[in-house]
Amino acid sequence: MSAVAVIGGGLAGGLLALELRARGLATELIDAGSADACATALSYGAMAPWAAPFTSMGWLIRGAPSRWQRLQRRHGSLGWQRGWFRPVGEGAPLGGLLPLPCSRVQAQQLVARWPAVLRAAGVRLRSDRVMALEPDPGGQGGWQLRLQQGASRRVPQLVLAAGAGCRALWPALPERLRVSWAGVLELEPRPGRPGPAGGGLRLPARFSRLALEARAAELEQEAWTVDPGLLSWGEGWLAGQISLLRAAQEGLQPGDPPDAAVQERRLRQALSAMDGELAGWPGRFRQVPVSFCPGGLPLVGPLPPPGLWLFSGFSGAFAQVPVLAPLLADWIADPGAAASHRLRDLGLLPDQPLPDQ
Ligand SMILES: Cc1cc2nc3c(=O)[nH]c(=O)nc-3n(C[C@H](O)[C@H](O)[C@H](O)COP(=O)(O)OP(=O)(O)OC[C@H]3O[C@@H](n4cnc5c(N)ncnc54)[C@H](O)[C@@H]3O)c2cc1C
Repeated sequence: MSAVAVIGGGLAGGLLALELRARGLATELIDAGSADACATALSYGAMAPWAAPFTSMGWLIRGAPSRWQRLQRRHGSLGWQRGWFRPVGEGAPLGGLLPLPCSRVQAQQLVARWPAVLRAAGVRLRSDRVMALEPDPGGQGGWQLRLQQGASRRVPQLVLAAGAGCRALWPALPERLRVSWAGVLELEPRPGRPGPAGGGLRLPARFSRLALEARAAELEQEAWTVDPGLLSWGEGWLAGQISLLRAAQEGLQPGDPPDAAVQERRLRQALSAMDGELAGWPGRFRQVPVSFCPGGLPLVGPLPPPGLWLFSGFSGAFAQVPVLAPLLADWIADPGAAASHRLRDLGLLPDQPLPDQ
């Protein structure tokens, strides 16, 4: 029997599994392997931790670049590199002419390398969907998992890192863990042309998505917003993103995907303001559910039933996950670890109310 099973093999589950192994715990990672349900696989992967607010969380995530460097020294390239971005839209200094520093994880590269990196670290990988979980009926503590391919597993400790799929597994999660839908265009390269006008990494100076997410619990009807962005993506380009939130009570679970034709039209229309060519540039529209917590503080820590942990709801996951995964792994490995106090001080425990903003 594995010591810890992690459900979800995106950024959160993958980095947590590496940290658990680094603490000597036998770790199994179970992922359904559906490309249309993994936010990490479609992510810009960008971070600008220098711009974080001067809060405890902000100070912590300023350490994200050095954590990525350390992870890459240990595991080889995970697609992280330093770079620059051109800010777009309202609030962009000097009208967007001034590039700003950032770093970025090439999501495609990370996802492609995950299986080899995790296996080399000793994580046991299982490609399957967890259909249900319940406290082990044997009464000896631990959890019983029912898997789609028919097998069942018993594990002493279990981490929900399944992004937008967490609540389907354990409905009694805090209401602040919600789901949005993000849509992007995978644009084709055009031979002989470097890319859409301006090229390079272009990201919004301010993400309107965050303001929409802050209102998630009060939304009476579905709402959407576009944060125009453009970055290199394999041979081509990724342009996005359109975010759609459902009315308050419907936004706790992904539900059905939004109408792709409508979302693509809205996205192309908004992108054309950034670059006229993008409205008609050939490419494929893709969308994926993303978990988030309004206010930007994710949920990291134990749930009431013993042996069940939550690691989800990130906003700015590529800066938050690498600094929070070690704290959660410390706690799982050692119930007396100081990390439990650190996570409580940060206001991230599932039993804590959302702090006043
Ligand atoms: C277009 C776009 C742009 C983004 N840009 C940025 C950015 O620039 N910077 C940033 O920090 N963040 C960005 N994000 C957000 C970021 O990508 C996500 O917050 C983060 O990747 C979430 O990681 P996760 O591991 O929690 O969830 P996911 O990556 O969604 O992984 C969850 C995994 O769990 C699996 N799963 C679900 N249910 C089950 C089950 N029952 N059994 C087994 N497996 C299951 C899924 O298959 C999936 O692989 C962006 C997201 C999108 C979509």
